[in-house]
Amino acid sequence: MAKGFVVIDVDRCKGCGLCTYVCPSNILALSRDAFNAKGYHPVVVTDAEKCIGCASCARICPDVVFTVYRQKRQTRRVGAPAAVAGAPAA
Ligand code: SF4
Ligand code: SF4
Repeated sequence: MAKGFVVIDVDRCKGCGLCTYVCPSNILALSRDAFNAKGYHPVVVTDAEKCIGCASCARICPDVVFTVYRQKRQTRRVGAPAAVAGAPAA
């Protein structure tokens, strides 16, 4: 499963809650205590480890609050010999 993380521009959030319904990992919630500069309860990430970088939150948010980053998948062939820099190809 891909990993990702989101950066939230807190002061752009108007607390509509749309993103909390579409996150497949169910890790977005409106803050109960904090207020942003507009006076809304902004969205927060409750468990960043579970973000899969799907960007559903960014697509549905009408206020461009999210920036989503995805971790590149690392592929490595098991048993492949290590490449030696400068070695001629046989
Ligand atoms: S990128 Fe996907 S998994 Fe991560 S917070 Fe947004 S909707 Fe949830
Ligand atoms: S959809 Fe956007 S504006 Fe609405 S709660 Fe989520 S981050 Fe805030």
